Formats: sequence, structure tokens, C-alpha cells
Amino acid sequence: MSAVPFLDLGRIHAPLKSAILADLDALISSSAFANGPQVAAFEQEFASYCEAPHAVGVASGLDALRLGLLALGVGPDDEVIVPANTFVATLEAVSQCGARPVVVDMQLSDYNIDPAAVEDAITSRTRALLPVHLYGQLADMRELAAIAKRHGLAIVEDAAQAHGATRDGIRAGTAGAAAAFSFYPGKNLGAMGDAGALTSSDPDLVAAVRALREHGQSAKYHHDVPGYTARLDTAQAIVLSHKLPLLDGWNHERRQAAAFYADELSGVGDLTLPPVAAASEPVWHLYPIATERRSELEAFLGERQIGCGRHYPVPVHLTDAYESLGQGPGSCPVAESLADRLLSLPIFPGMTEAELASVASAVRDFFA
Ligand SMILES: *Cc1c(COP(=O)(O)O)cnc(C)c1O
Repeated sequence: MSAVPFLDLGRIHAPLKSAILADLDALISSSAFANGPQVAAFEQEFASYCEAPHAVGVASGLDALRLGLLALGVGPDDEVIVPANTFVATLEAVSQCGARPVVVDMQLSDYNIDPAAVEDAITSRTRALLPVHLYGQLADMRELAAIAKRHGLAIVEDAAQAHGATRDGIRAGTAGAAAAFSFYPGKNLGAMGDAGALTSSDPDLVAAVRALREHGQSAKYHHDVPGYTARLDTAQAIVLSHKLPLLDGWNHERRQAAAFYADELSGVGDLTLPPVAAASEPVWHLYPIATERRSELEAFLGERQIGCGRHYPVPVHLTDAYESLGQGPGSCPVAESLADRLLSLPIFPGMTEAELASVASAVRDFFA
């Protein structure tokens, strides 16, 4: 039995290091640190990867979400519907626009936002739906698009964990008015620092986000609206362009690892394995298993030096940050009950078969 890290980025970066360093060396000579030509080049590459007409590079996934909502006109007095099972940034994007996040429950069939709960939560103030493609699997966008259409609402996808995922023939980044991707280092496509991108088919929205990311200017010193410093750094665009061609291969490795876990762990103890909806091809950002004995299993894996994590330990509506929403315990029972049972196992490109086998046998030993 050997130690297995939760994530090892060193393995995927080692073979890219010298090529990236050469380009960073040239960047230092050119000094084009902001708005270098590499940013536009990466935007084109990423749009084409997502099969989306446009991509705009920004400084983080949160910036992509927030600027997308702002460009749609979301503001004070508006409500935006979000899932309870997500990373807190989904809510931050809404509250930073001055709007109110309305948190609704998830469903067990895909661990994503429950479309029926979405429909129940719609009010006259609802402006947009903000589904999250959590753990790398698309939310039920067909159903959500039908709801949005019936009620005249916009959809912004939180695709921070789902670069390359598809469901019902829909690709992450193409299902709403806009989609937000994060390139935080640990995401399926990660920069060497913070970075993000927004994809959209709407040229006006894209122009608005391009202005917002850079002090609200449509041209130098033409400040049409108050904006932000939220550009994608040239250095990060360089890194991302080196990594993007390898993303499909990495996602394939994640799928193989997920298939291995599914084979090895189905029927073990009281485990519930992560659900995959029909016609869905997740990219397995995480592999969360669920058990009533989560703390014990976590300690057992810890003793064997196997990395694992809780995603996410506190449903967003119960965090101190969003206590003021007044959505107390019991408001999202499915998410609340699952949050106490989820434990993510290691899953990352470059993970060896021996490591996968070590993790699986440790989990089996625990329940034996
Ligand atoms: C990572 C993440 C974000 C935020 O991305 P940053 O780049 O860290 O700002 C938003 N939503 C989800 C679901 C995420 O996992």
C-alpha cells in the first residue's frame, strides 16, 4: 500500500514545463503582460473547444459568472436561482451584483439542481437561473431551458467544473445566454494561478463583458460603464494554450478512473456512487462517494495516506456568509443530508493503475 495524493499537478506539468518557460521568457522580452496577443489566441482556441461562438478570458471563474450576470442586467431587486450543492462562488457572483441568490435543492439522479424545485422557486423578481454542472456533470439543461423559456428567464451556466462535458448532445458552455469557466489550478483545465473565461453566442453580451473586465471601456479611455480589473493575464493565457490540447486526453483518463471506481466499489458497504444521468458524459472533476460512515472512512484513508476531501461540507445556504438569506436548515433537505455523507476520492490525470487499485482496496478494506 502506498500513499496516494488527492491531486498531483506536478505530473501533468512536468512534460510541459520547458515549452511554457520558453514562451514566458519571450513574454518577459515583449512585456505584453496585459492584453497580449496570446489572450485573443487562447480565447479563440477555447471557444472552438467548447463549440461556442465566443469566449472572453477573465481573471477568475467568479469574474466570469459575475460579469456575465452584470452584462445580462442582473442587479438589485433581482433574484437568481442557484443550487444548494455548489461551491460558494456561485452565490458570491449573484450577491456581488446586488441581486439575491435563491437557493433550491438538488436531485439525487445527477447531484445537480432539481428542475422541479427551480420552477417552484420562480417569482416575479426572478431574473435568471444559474445551474451548476457540479463534479463535471451537466445539470439537466434540456429541462431547465424549457422552464427558462416558459418564464422568460436567462440562463447562466456555472461550468467551472465541467470543461468538455456533454449531456443530451449539449456541450458545457453552449446551453445558456452565457457560461462561466474557472481555470483555478485544480480544475480540469487549470492555469498557474487564477483565470477564467465566459462563453456565449450573444455578441452584445460578449462586448459588454469585454468592457466590464477592463474598467468599462469599449476603447481605450472610453468608459461607458463602471467596470473592473478582471482581465485574463497574458501569462495565464500562455499556460492555458499549452494545456488545452491535452484536456480531452486528461478528461479521458478521468473517465477511465471513474469507470474503475464504479467497477471496484459498486455494492461495497453502504456506498452510493456518484450518479450518471442518461445520455450524460461527465468529465469527473471530482468523484464523490456517499456513506453514513464518512468521518470513519476519512480517518481510515488518512491513516493509509490516501487523499480525500469533502465537497462540500456545508450547503451554501447554511454557510455564515449566506445566513442572512434566511434559508435555514430543512430548506434544502436533499442537499443537507448528502453534505454529511459525501467524500471525494482521488481522481486526476496521471494517476496510475496501482494508485487507483490502492484507493479502491483501502475503501473495500474499510467496509470489510
Ligand atoms: C471553482 C469554482 C468557481 C469559482 O472559480 P474561481 O476561478 O475560483 O473564481 C465557481 N463555481 C464552481 C462550481 C467552482 O467549482
